[in-house]
Formats: sequence, structure tokens, C-alpha cells
Amino acid sequence: MDDNTVTILGARGSMSVSGAEYLRYGGATTCVLVRLSGKSALLDAGTGLMNPPPDLLDAPSLPLLLTHAHADHLLGLPLCPYVMRRGARLEVYAARRGGLDAEAQIRRFLSPPLWPVGPDALPADIRFHDLPAELYLDADGRAASREAGGIRVASMAGAHPGGVSLLRLEGGGKSVVFMTDCTLTAALRPAALDFARDCSLLLCDGQYSDEEWPECAGFGHNSWRDAAKFARECRARQARIVHHDPFHTDAMLDAAAAEIEALCPGCAFAREGEAISL
Ligand SMILES: [Zn+2]
Ligand SMILES: [Zn+2]
Repeated sequence: MDDNTVTILGARGSMSVSGAEYLRYGGATTCVLVRLSGKSALLDAGTGLMNPPPDLLDAPSLPLLLTHAHADHLLGLPLCPYVMRRGARLEVYAARRGGLDAEAQIRRFLSPPLWPVGPDALPADIRFHDLPAELYLDADGRAASREAGGIRVASMAGAHPGGVSLLRLEGGGKSVVFMTDCTLTAALRPAALDFARDCSLLLCDGQYSDEEWPECAGFGHNSWRDAAKFARECRARQARIVHHDPFHTDAMLDAAAAEIEALCPGCAFAREGEAISL
């Protein structure tokens, strides 16, 4: 198996969807599995986290990096088969938001009346950590020294209501940049370009069509056209547009695919279940 792979477990944004019109790009919300040099990291815990590859369930320990705590990025956590397993350990990293640390954010979400039980009721051992600007993860997903040779994680603040962390993961000579739920504003763009430059794979939010954009410009996302232009500008070697709008059917995304490819060769709409070799 390829040592450097990114698997899209959920490509939908805002709300999960189901039905015959969503089969190709999928209905599960944001979740990505990154494997660099054989070491794994999960990005976000949308409903895609409910369907991880079976071999992942055997890992004694896994890191989960959260971009932010909006519900479409957390809903898969309490029903993830990995956290249903006693003996498993999940190391959760998230930046402070609204005065809440990682643990407080999850506890607010997983508590009555929003959810019947808290994280303590889940069989796995879940541990919480602040997400710093730079972090090295060892094979168990725990913070380690640079010399330990694990995955390097860099993060920077994006533009999204309530805040979001943009993530860059490096290892095995490859790099993956995750920019979901972030508007590439004129103010942010220079720093975002530096952050994403020359990455092996860019995953960039492109929720809206050009027609929808004027009404949706304040929601903290991008048009798919802007996402593709950004992918080209930062010279990403491969790119996928993520966080598909829940009202965008397979037919709508298929119809825009050629335009995206023309704007940025190698750029496509992410598909749930797709495994991308770096
Ligand atoms: Zn979202
Ligand atoms: Zn969000």
C-alpha cells in the first residue's frame, strides 16, 4: 500500500445529505485521512468519520486535528467505530475558540440536551490538546520533538465565522494543505499562498458556484472558481475542492468539472471514498 495517501472520508459541507443524486461525490460531511510515511492523521470529525478504512480501527492510537468545532466537522465523533473500541486512544488537537479549549468545545457539543452522553461515556480514551502553530506528531499521534521524525503539522488562522485553523501536514517528503471553511479574502491571500505553496495536495473549500457567490460571500467559504484559481496560484501539484454545498447534486458538480480543470489542471471536486496518492 502507498505510504503517502490522502483518503476523502467526507467531502460535503454544512449538512450531510443522502439520495440517488449524491452518490458520486457523497453525502458525508468533512473528514480526511492523511497517511504520510505510513503514519496516520485524521482531519476533522464530520460524518465521514463514521466510515473509516477497516485497518485504521486496529491502530492503538490516532491523532485527530480539528479545524474548528462547527457541527458539520464534529458530528461523526460520537458514532465513529474507532472511539467505540475500548483500548483505542484518540489524541484530539484544536485551537482555542471563544475562550474554550479543545476539551471544552467537545464537551459543549457532546452534552445534554444536544447529545445524550459526553466523551467520557465513549469506550476509547479521548485526550485533548491545544493546537499550536507548529507541532510534530509521533507514530502514536502524540506531540513529539522534531527529531522524532513524525508528521509535522503547521497551522494558521483562516477567515471564517468563529475562526478556523488552516493545516499543513508534512512527512515522507510530501505535504498536504487543508483549507476548509475559509474565505480567501484579499487580506488573507498572501499569507495563505505562502502557507500552501508547492504542496503535494491542496484541499480547498469551494462550496459555491459563481451565481451563488454574491449571496453567500459572508458565510466563510469560497466559490469553486476562486478555489481552483488559488490552487493554481500556489502551485499545488494536485488539488481537490471540498465542502460541497448540500444542495449541489452530482449533476451540478459534474457540469462544473471541466471549468475547474481548465482553471487549474489537476484540480477536481473531491469524491467521498477517493484515495489520492501523493
Ligand atoms: Zn463546514
Ligand atoms: Zn464552519
